[in-house]
Amino acid sequence: MKRYYQPEIETMPVEQIQALQSERLVKQVKFVYDNVEFYRNRMDEAGVKPEDIHGIEDLHKLPFITKDDLRDQYPYGLLGVPLKDCVRIQSTSGTTGRRVVAFYTQEDIDIWDECCARAIVAAGGTNEDVCHVCYGYGLFTGGPGLNGGSHKVGCLTLPMSSGNTERQLQFMTDLGSTIICCTPSYAANLAEAINERGLRDKIKLKAGIFGAEPWTEEMRHNIEDMLGIKAYDIYGLTEISGPGVSFECEEQAGMHIQEDHFIPEIINPETGEVLPEGEIGELVFTCITKKAFPLIRYRTRDLCYLTRKPCSCGRTHIRMHKPMGRSDDMMVIKGVNVWPSQIESVLLNQGYQANYQIVVDRIGNNDTCEVQVELTPEMAADNTVSIEDREKKVVKGLKSMLGIKVDVKVVEPKSITRSEGKAVRVIDKRDLYK
Ligand SMILES: [Zn+2]
Repeated sequence: MKRYYQPEIETMPVEQIQALQSERLVKQVKFVYDNVEFYRNRMDEAGVKPEDIHGIEDLHKLPFITKDDLRDQYPYGLLGVPLKDCVRIQSTSGTTGRRVVAFYTQEDIDIWDECCARAIVAAGGTNEDVCHVCYGYGLFTGGPGLNGGSHKVGCLTLPMSSGNTERQLQFMTDLGSTIICCTPSYAANLAEAINERGLRDKIKLKAGIFGAEPWTEEMRHNIEDMLGIKAYDIYGLTEISGPGVSFECEEQAGMHIQEDHFIPEIINPETGEVLPEGEIGELVFTCITKKAFPLIRYRTRDLCYLTRKPCSCGRTHIRMHKPMGRSDDMMVIKGVNVWPSQIESVLLNQGYQANYQIVVDRIGNNDTCEVQVELTPEMAADNTVSIEDREKKVVKGLKSMLGIKVDVKVVEPKSITRSEGKAVRVIDKRDLYK
């Protein structure tokens, strides 16, 4: 059975979507030029006027904006409407610098909720479902976004927020949660707790909607097996609205970008040149309906590619491949580019769970990298393979994936701290920015 939240939009022929995008883009560019001094100055500097933009084919003429621009404009520099028309803020965690504060009108929130509703319906959600939202609530967009989407679909919504595993499990079993929304690392932790307590038969989960941090295909299979569910990916950024910018359908082959609200581009991160469909580069979004915090050609730093290959789900919106990494997450170790997701793939392929930590340091002028990974309880009980042999095998797997030798320490089950939101995978002690 194929289900859509807004079938007329989600299955609209591509030519019609593009015509709609062109019409909205022209209006939006005029809107930001007239209402936001920042955009007016940037466009004047670039020598482009609103009347030069006739449709999506002219998008490339507009200047990019970056996260640094958003920070420089903190707090009100990008407001597209008077402050009295704004009803909410959300904010980034600010772990890597000053926070970005994003503003919303009521209409912006309605659109955001609809985007999340489309994702929940794509994961099989209906008004008969119990939607267990254990993303964080508050300034973080995960909880409020999926909460709003769940209301629109008509699910019974459990606004659990993250943490307090015992309470999560109690509500999940007593109230029969069928859909769970959280970070993949927290889903893995809950799955572990469910299996340890022998609750697997008491839970009714059928689907999970997981995002807000990078995760691998191996981790997806792991969570699906442990919980007996189908795990769907969802993508978004606080700057753009939050989760629901794109989402997976039952094909699990890339996330459909909600093209009636967002125009994606892939660019060469060095030159800014727009790349053809299918090539890997930096993902850039232009929001064509957002009013309070409008973004034109926002560089996400996420690296991925787009595809317009028809999808069997019937949705016509373009798909983005799961980001291969955020340029922010990339580590340079011994001169080589390393993403935590590469390390995770190797570990899960060798039968470990996603309970690991990567410790990077520098001794003299040499980088050191130690991957600490927990034994699973089954491995711990198995005396036929020595710890030393296990470590050697992981070292070998990582060498072939990364091209460099890193140290591996296999540790006892439960010795690495569990996350309740986004997992802390990397501890970089090098102080490279001091
Ligand atoms: Zn699809």
